[in-house]
This record gives sequence, C-alpha cells and structure tokens, in this order.
Amino acid sequence: MPLVPMRTLLDHAAENDYGVAAFNVNNMEQIQAIMTAATETESPVIVQASRGARGYSDDNYLRHLMLAAVELNPQLPIAMHQDHGNSPATCMSAINMGFTSVMMDGSLEEDGKSPASWDYNVSVTREVVNAAHAKGVTVEAELGCLGGIEDGHGAGLSGEEAMAHLTDPEEAGQFVKETGCDALAVAIGTSHGAYKFTKKPSGQVLRMDVIREIHKRMPDCHIVMHGSSSVPRELIDIINQYGGEIPETYGVPVEDIQEGIKHGVRKINVDTDNRLAMTGAVRKALMEKPAEFDLRYYLKPARAAMADVVRARMISFGQAGHASKVPMQTLDEMKRVYDLATA
Ligand SMILES: [Zn+2]
Repeated sequence: MPLVPMRTLLDHAAENDYGVAAFNVNNMEQIQAIMTAATETESPVIVQASRGARGYSDDNYLRHLMLAAVELNPQLPIAMHQDHGNSPATCMSAINMGFTSVMMDGSLEEDGKSPASWDYNVSVTREVVNAAHAKGVTVEAELGCLGGIEDGHGAGLSGEEAMAHLTDPEEAGQFVKETGCDALAVAIGTSHGAYKFTKKPSGQVLRMDVIREIHKRMPDCHIVMHGSSSVPRELIDIINQYGGEIPETYGVPVEDIQEGIKHGVRKINVDTDNRLAMTGAVRKALMEKPAEFDLRYYLKPARAAMADVVRARMISFGQAGHASKVPMQTLDEMKRVYDLATA
C-alpha cells in the first residue's frame, strides 16, 4: 500500500466523527514511535515534516524512512504532509519528493514571518491547489495567524497579538470557496511551541467558539488545529527533575480538542508534547548513568516516551481502531475525484 492522500483520511474521519493527530518528525526514532503506537491502536497515520525538518534530515533520508514505514506497515493508511509550506515552490518540491499532502501557508508571506494580505493568500493557495489536485495531492491552507514561532516559521505574535489575528468565520467560507483547499487551519488563540498560555486557558483566550461558528457555516470543511500540544505537567516535571529549566506553561487541554472534533476539527497538529517526552527521557537516562555513552541507551527510552504520547492522543482523538476501515485510495484515484468535481 503506497502513501495515501491526506484527504482520504480526513473524509473518513468526518464521516465517522473523529480527529486525526498529525505528528511532526525529524528522524527515524520519531517515525518508529508513531508507527509503534499506530500499530498498537490500529490508527490511520498522518506524519508531517516542516521545512526545518526537511532541511535537517535531507529530503531523501526522510522519504526513504517514510517508505520503510509503509513497507513495514502495509495494513495502515499513512499520509505524508508538508507542514507550513511558505511558497508554491516549497509545496511543489514536497510533491516531487512523494509527499501526499501539502500545506500552503499563505497567511504569512514567503519570509514565513510577515502577515500576508487576503489577495496574496488566495492567489498562492489557488496556485498550489491547481498543481496539487492535478496529482491527487491534498492541500491544507491557513487563514488568520497563530502566535509563536515553530521551526523558524511564524509571525512571533504574543498571546494578545494573536487574538487580533483570529480567523473570521465569514471570511473562512469565502476563502475556501475561492481557493478550493481541502482543509483549513484556523487561528483560535493558540501558539506554536511550548509557551501557549500562562495559565489554564479559558474560553476568552482559547476561542473554541470560532471553530463552532466556522463549522456551522461550513459543515463540510475539514478544520485543522495547529499549536495543539497539551504540554502535560508530568512531561515538564521530568525534564526539570533531571536538570532542565522549563518555566511554568500551559497548552491546549485534550478536552478542548475533543470538543473541537465534535465541531469539524479533523486534523490536530502535535509536536511539542513529543519533543518534551523525548527530551525528558534522554535527560533522565543520561543523568541516571553518567558513564553510559551508547546512543541506544538513551534513544530507546526517548522513542518509547514519544510512543506513549502518540498512543494517548490517537485514543483521545478517536482515530484508534479505524485503520482497517479507511478506504484505501491512491493519488491517481483521488486525482480522478478532483477531475470529476471540476469538470
Ligand atoms: Zn502550525
């Protein structure tokens, strides 16, 4: 079974009222952690790579690792997604590398930092949709701007500034109509990275009502939540217990994500929680046995700690148990679906 279009997974999730976590990867251990958890929970899989990850791993290493994941797990539908493409060229290079889904983030200009105009966003997104759909590849777009920075991408907005760049539900409808994107990332007050909120978020700073409003207007639109790590206290505690210095911080509670899934959220991006889990496990291992220098001694527990987080999210978001029920669709089959829709 080759990599499948992400749209196939999101459509099945929408028909069956669940969400699918999208986990960022940079190396073999992270891919293995995701596949272990997916096999155990029988979950469909979205693996995503940022531009930073593609640079770090070299596209070719990443592609072959993903092909190994597919080869070893033929029973699982797996989509590979470009996270935060900053230009049509980035998206096209991902498609040429075999990614089955791309995000064209035209909410920011090509520098990945400056909030962009409506016209720019519509134009670059439309361009990527035309090219991607011609190959059966899925397109995620973004309207509104999130706080924080991830892998060098983001406007670096503070929590308050991000509140001024929330997605407008009325504009969202117009944007999806004009671009033809498959999924829409929305800004609801969350930030990338570990420092999302300084206390447990209330409805004033985590605007789940924006999601409900968008879903009411566009029940068929697949909504994507970015910056949706939960930043669990226990993961921070392990890091700090073994010499780390992570200040007090709060993420997006899993219950809020589950509420979003009831209102059209189909893809949930999780990266920070996995980073925290792996870093904590590495710190613990190295501090417990300072004389140890075998890489496997600390990477094995790191990989297992990430698998624990991934497994928990797969169960909480409802994707567990669905792997075998997702209709297997190739990029060619999806291309014909798009062709028919535009004919
Ligand atoms: Zn993001």
